[in-house]
Amino acid sequence: MKSYDAAIAGGGIIGASIALELARAGLRVAVFDRQRPGEEASWASAGIISPAPENPGQFATVDLAKRSAALYPEFVAQVEEISGESTGYRPKGTLDALFAPDAKAELSTIIAVHHGLGLKAEPLRAEDARELEPALSEEIAAAVLRPDEASVDNRALTAATLIAAQRSGAEIFPTRGAKAIWREGHRCRGLILQNEKVEAKWTIVAAGCFSGAIEGAAPYAPVQPAKGQMVALRADDLHIERVLWSEKIYLVPRNDGRILAGATLEHIGFDKRVTAGGIEKILAAAIELAPGLKNARIEETWAGLRPDSSDHLPILGPTDLEGLLMATGHFRSGILLTPITARLIREWITEQKVSMDWDRFSPLRFQSEPTMSSRRAPA
Ligand SMILES: Cc1cc2nc3c(=O)[nH]c(=O)nc-3n(C[C@H](O)[C@H](O)[C@H](O)COP(=O)(O)OP(=O)(O)OC[C@H]3O[C@@H](n4cnc5c(N)ncnc54)[C@H](O)[C@@H]3O)c2cc1C
Repeated sequence: MKSYDAAIAGGGIIGASIALELARAGLRVAVFDRQRPGEEASWASAGIISPAPENPGQFATVDLAKRSAALYPEFVAQVEEISGESTGYRPKGTLDALFAPDAKAELSTIIAVHHGLGLKAEPLRAEDARELEPALSEEIAAAVLRPDEASVDNRALTAATLIAAQRSGAEIFPTRGAKAIWREGHRCRGLILQNEKVEAKWTIVAAGCFSGAIEGAAPYAPVQPAKGQMVALRADDLHIERVLWSEKIYLVPRNDGRILAGATLEHIGFDKRVTAGGIEKILAAAIELAPGLKNARIEETWAGLRPDSSDHLPILGPTDLEGLLMATGHFRSGILLTPITARLIREWITEQKVSMDWDRFSPLRFQSEPTMSSRRAPA
């Protein structure tokens, strides 16, 4: 039987980055994936690195997100140096365009909320926004510039992180999915694969939206898939420098000239089909934000499954089974939250303490969730 210091179930960006951190800390690490690693959500993503909350529900993750975004330059530099591959990191800021007639009032609220959360944000008049990004529609009323935000080519980053982890000593096993947590009393002894057991002092479940299907992991990681459809466009006569947002869409320029547009948010199970309705919605909103995209070529369409939890917050940290940790539930922010996730898991494993409060994200929080019947008012 093989034995490691750490066995990781799942080779997406989360599993790969944890493997890299742990291997660099001198641990013997193995990553087990049920297919070729890096081909689920981490491949399908848009790769925006924005700690700004899209709604009040995300305020709880802002500190985590800010720390992660601050770690990004160091993280990509390390991955690029070890792997020898580019990650397409673009620290060029993002620009959020407002269309509403009452945009001025909306703008001051948005700026106040950002500043209250310690996020850099500047109000822009429509003409100033269009000077920065001439592709923007003439219909926009104002904009918010977040100069510190960035994007990364998540496909390149995930592939490069897997290479970097391997070069740092981690072993990666494609097509060796985890069937179950290997539990003995109050201890997790490792993973049970199809036909073998793998022993490890530390076991980390990082299987994205599939984490709950690993026997024994569901109580700690009751995750659901949240489908997102995306389109890649190419427009020869249109330049976009920063990530552009409207209320309905984001546009993400890549170094190779492609412009990604996305994404839908659909809770319809493990379904990765691209639909006419999904793509129609994305294209209409993309053209509304940057009308020049009307002539763009459609290069690719795809869909992926975000790992979502009932409170939409990540699931990070130790469980009540000795040696078992969760690193999943990153929902719409897994690329953004990668460096801090890897850092905190490594800190816990090597120092048994972490450098920021992560109790809010504990895998144990679901165990006190009321069942459906007890949620109903008594008759
Ligand atoms: C359309 C879309 C757009 C997005 N945009 C952004 C964005 O702009 N910014 C951002 O920060 N985030 C974004 N996200 C979210 C982000 O992509 C995810 O949160 C992140 O990729 C999750 O990474 P992961 O490694 O946990 O999961 P995944 O990448 O899904 O990896 C899980 C891995 O586990 C493997 N696996 C499954 N079952 C098992 C098993 N039983 N045993 C072993 N391995 C198993 C899978 O094969 C897979 O390789 C987006 C997601 C989507 C779908």
